[in-house]
Amino acid sequence: MHNTVFSGTVVGVEGLVVEVEVDIARGIPCFSIVGLPNTAVRESRERVTAAVKNSGWDFPLDRITVNLAPADLRKEGSAFDLAIAAGVLASSGQVNIDVDTGNIPPSRTLFLGELALDGSLRRIRGALPVLLHARERGFPRAIIPMENFDEARIVEGIEVVGCATLRDAVSVVFGRESVVDEGDDAFEDTTRVKAADEVAIVSSAGTDETLDMTDVIGQEAVKRALLVAAAGGHHVLIAGPPGAGKTMLARRFATILPPLDRAGSVETTMIYSSVGLLGGRGIITTRPFRAPHHSASDAGLIGGGANPRPGEVTLAHNGVLFLDELPEFRRHVLETLREPLEDGRITIARARTSLTFPARFQLIAAMNPCPCGYHGSPVHPCRCGPIQIENYVGKISGPLLDRIAIHVAVHPVDTDALGEGRQGTSSEELRERVRLARGRQRARANGTGESNDAGLNATLTEGQMRRHCRMDDKAEALLLRAQKQLRFSARARAHIVRVSRTIADLAGTDTIDVEHVGEAIQYRSRT
Ligand SMILES: [Zn+2]
Repeated sequence: MHNTVFSGTVVGVEGLVVEVEVDIARGIPCFSIVGLPNTAVRESRERVTAAVKNSGWDFPLDRITVNLAPADLRKEGSAFDLAIAAGVLASSGQVNIDVDTGNIPPSRTLFLGELALDGSLRRIRGALPVLLHARERGFPRAIIPMENFDEARIVEGIEVVGCATLRDAVSVVFGRESVVDEGDDAFEDTTRVKAADEVAIVSSAGTDETLDMTDVIGQEAVKRALLVAAAGGHHVLIAGPPGAGKTMLARRFATILPPLDRAGSVETTMIYSSVGLLGGRGIITTRPFRAPHHSASDAGLIGGGANPRPGEVTLAHNGVLFLDELPEFRRHVLETLREPLEDGRITIARARTSLTFPARFQLIAAMNPCPCGYHGSPVHPCRCGPIQIENYVGKISGPLLDRIAIHVAVHPVDTDALGEGRQGTSSEELRERVRLARGRQRARANGTGESNDAGLNATLTEGQMRRHCRMDDKAEALLLRAQKQLRFSARARAHIVRVSRTIADLAGTDTIDVEHVGEAIQYRSRT
């Protein structure tokens, strides 16, 4: 007998519905699965066989062939187990796939879940993206492991049933009489919940909510630069000696960004679900903060592998990517950052396919001014020669530096010089100013843009700059003078205009004046 049921997998960060055909024919007993890598096939066969037997059904001693389609797609993961088990039960006549339970038919149900040998269902990665795709394809119902239930609550418009075991799943889909009864207590620990429209469980993707800008004493100039960066979505490079507070400032940057909106939360949760980093949590509502070490590989930073998986730049999507000790990163790794810095996405090319992942993050890069860290310090002598310093800074390519709009120097604060009990600006105050400045940007962009990070000043095109970045005469003259004296590249000039626009938005004015331009120029000429 031959039957088809449906399951799903993740390709990159997107979900995909997969057809699971199960054919059972007379012959020498064997169990083959087509369309999976070899090791995965072996393991899946063993789990499905044991789970079916241990749940009280017979495992057919015939020729069983399972085909996962589309065939040309490299499939990963263990999420097909439940569908394969359901298909085996249907094709061996132990459950009726055409059963009328008065509810959604089995053939219109998506089966997702890894089976344990005892028949219980285990958490899978990528449940959220698969469910979103299944909804798009018009599936009215999905069965998922109970452990994935919190992330599945986000999806509306498809009935999601969380099940703890294979028996539970079969009883939900094929009717209770399909399950071999082992006594009255068989269903006692069964938990079934329908998901749609319930309140989601909230969790965090890395931003520590106990951090606050008031923790940073002094440094008001750097905080100002970070405020401008947050308001317009500009990338930042912080240069300064060890102990000046670069990391402390970077870690608090996300606390001055506005909270994620609904669309942003779903995007971020999908990404974390697809790489298996959700760990049973529900929707992510805080902005990610990722701080990969400088020894990170290409694949680790930008994504990759035979079956490309997203890297740090994608995990930082909608949040902050912090690269400490920027010159220590391998140069070709830094080169690969150019695409996401420019376009907000990253394309991973492979021989047969190419995948594009979202990667719209705000970069906060930090570096020492020289290898020993004390170049330019008034108190600490620098031990580096001029060539050493040049080589060190030269490790970061010009094109990469060119894509960072705001360069700011940080100096250690002499805490004795500060008055007692003096508190700096708080994250809440800064966040409110960011919110207002972003509101002006959104209003200009006519309220379009998919989420609250789209259409910020950092991504204004030449045409938009001509329309929206009107300068008064003095401002215009200053920009021209600076351009001649400091020999800015065209890209650097564009950044200055965009940053000026953000500074004017923070000031609440439509026309960019000489002070706004002056501040923006400073961010490019002082490192
Ligand atoms: Zn030095």
